[in-house]
Amino acid sequence: NDELFKNVISHSKEYGFVFPSSEIYDGLSAVYDYGQLGAELKNNIKTYWWKAMVQMHENIVGIDSAIFMHPKIWKASGHVDGFSDPMIDNKDSKKRYRADQLLEDKIAKYEKDGKIQKAEDLQLKMDEYLKVENLAGLKELIIEHEIACPVSGTRNWTDVRQFNLMFSTQMGAMADEADVVYLRPETAQGIFVNFLNVQKSGRMKIPFGIAQIGKAFRNEVIARQFIMRMREFEQMEMQFFVRPGTEMEWYNYWKEARLKWHKALGTDPEKYRYHDHTKLAHYANAAVDIEFEFPFGFKEVEGIHSRTDFDLSQHQEYSRKKMQYFDNDLNEEGKPYGNYIPYVIETSIGLDRMFLLTMINAYEEQDLSEGDKQDSRSVLKFHPALAPIKAAVLPLTKKDGLPEKAREIMDRLKLDFNMQYDEKDSIGKRYRRQDAIGTPFCITVDHQSLEDNTVTIRHRDSMEQERVAIDQLEKIIGDLVSW
Ligand code: ATP
Repeated sequence: NDELFKNVISHSKEYGFVFPSSEIYDGLSAVYDYGQLGAELKNNIKTYWWKAMVQMHENIVGIDSAIFMHPKIWKASGHVDGFSDPMIDNKDSKKRYRADQLLEDKIAKYEKDGKIQKAEDLQLKMDEYLKVENLAGLKELIIEHEIACPVSGTRNWTDVRQFNLMFSTQMGAMADEADVVYLRPETAQGIFVNFLNVQKSGRMKIPFGIAQIGKAFRNEVIARQFIMRMREFEQMEMQFFVRPGTEMEWYNYWKEARLKWHKALGTDPEKYRYHDHTKLAHYANAAVDIEFEFPFGFKEVEGIHSRTDFDLSQHQEYSRKKMQYFDNDLNEEGKPYGNYIPYVIETSIGLDRMFLLTMINAYEEQDLSEGDKQDSRSVLKFHPALAPIKAAVLPLTKKDGLPEKAREIMDRLKLDFNMQYDEKDSIGKRYRRQDAIGTPFCITVDHQSLEDNTVTIRHRDSMEQERVAIDQLEKIIGDLVSW
């Protein structure tokens, strides 16, 4: 599994999906750039999400709010005081760790060694200490369970401190203390503070949702696992506003709907599971993670949270603007429900984690040896709708008018699809290059094409070929790459 993960990381770099940021300057920790194919894949994932959420739901609209927001927003949301991780330093190696992650690694180790009781006891204590922010208790656990520094092996720890994850900067030229602004650590607050704007200007009626895709920034104490935990990342979030008392109904609706979205990509359903939270954030009355089995274990990709009226109430208090909705539908007594602050169900998915999931799920090394003939290929089996390049046009040879014919096809199809044209190297090599970047179809132009206006389509997964008329290509590809 480690091998698979390493291969995916190097494949991502080799073929232009993901590069370390600032690489020629030796990189910047936990920041990554998306390359020419990565940008396409990322856009396709965004489109899939946006269509499923905004286009398919008549009562959900999308916005694009600014990254900078009034600093009071982060007071109201609880991020200034509460958005932190418990951090501990090793005095000898001078390395910094998250106290909870050191403990979690130890729990995993106990489980692996069959010491189930020990694992459970430690988990219970850790959860309890985290909940009441007992930092001294966390340190005691680290000492009691003889946790050594993963790098130096020594057990010489500092005290545990809370470390706020928000990045801050200054706004304006004459910056002083009062001008501190934060880079948003989540996109959700941009939705909450625009709740009234959208509701009024869009004449939205409850229940309704507001969706947004955008960057978020967290100064993660430690960065691990490639694009799994980044300091600059992207979220796709939707806040669904409902009548108080109906939130559990909607929570269950979204819990199911979101898992369906994941499974519609053809991913092995066994690789997904729900993880219900028993330990709830102060604002939530129910929460579940959708987890995917990454090579390093089941991990959260998306969270669905029932956030009550916490956020809107907080903004009402801090901004002194009424965050109420007037509901003139009639209740059981035949009277209008009247004014209330709506309850909120949130769905929040990390775009980069979804990208990583898609790469891991698609990547395969296939042994194609027959008899003594050794052969193999790397293939990315993306769902055609997500594939960065939909089809490649390949003239069999560089002469006899085949490139011209191929160009004609290319120029027509590129109006509708993201295409590649390739005439370099043998046809076999070109097929393998397209397999490696996940192109679902290769269109090969040969001598027969000049005579009867047909081409072959080679399918990535089966490697089978079929002969089709050139004027059918748009329809065939269109059908195969749509949902
Ligand atoms: P974790 O427990 O993994 O830190 P979280 O519970 O803090 O995640 P949320 O605040 O619920 O995460 O954010 C919603 C989603 O945003 C997560 O499910 C994840 O996909 C994504 N996400 C959160 N932090 C990061 C990060 N540092 N890098 C990449 N994606 C992230």
